[in-house]
Amino acid sequence: MTGAQYRSGVPDNWFVDPVFLGVPGVRRDVPVEDDNPLSWQSDALCAQTDPEAFFPEKGGSTRDAKRICATCDVRDECLEYALQNDERFGIWGGLSERERRKLKRRA
Ligand code: SF4
Repeated sequence: MTGAQYRSGVPDNWFVDPVFLGVPGVRRDVPVEDDNPLSWQSDALCAQTDPEAFFPEKGGSTRDAKRICATCDVRDECLEYALQNDERFGIWGGLSERERRKLKRRA
């Protein structure tokens, strides 16, 4: 598929810049907001990789994204956030949409 035809499935808001969030240690002159529900994203491994792996096209492989999630320090926080916010698309906390739906049904 050529670049002109390609439509990315990565949402614009999939990641919030930790500087914007005022996450401790990222930029010292920004006030600390301890209660920010997205502060875990400052340690998100996926932020250092290709986000498209985490939002594959329908039927696309999730293996690479899940491999990264397996070593991510904020996996629990990420999954919790996705479940609480009913994230419908992408890999969060190492689980696909379908796997998150199954997990919710079991809860
Ligand atoms: S668990 Fe996966 S999707 Fe969640 S922050 Fe870590 S690398 Fe990103």
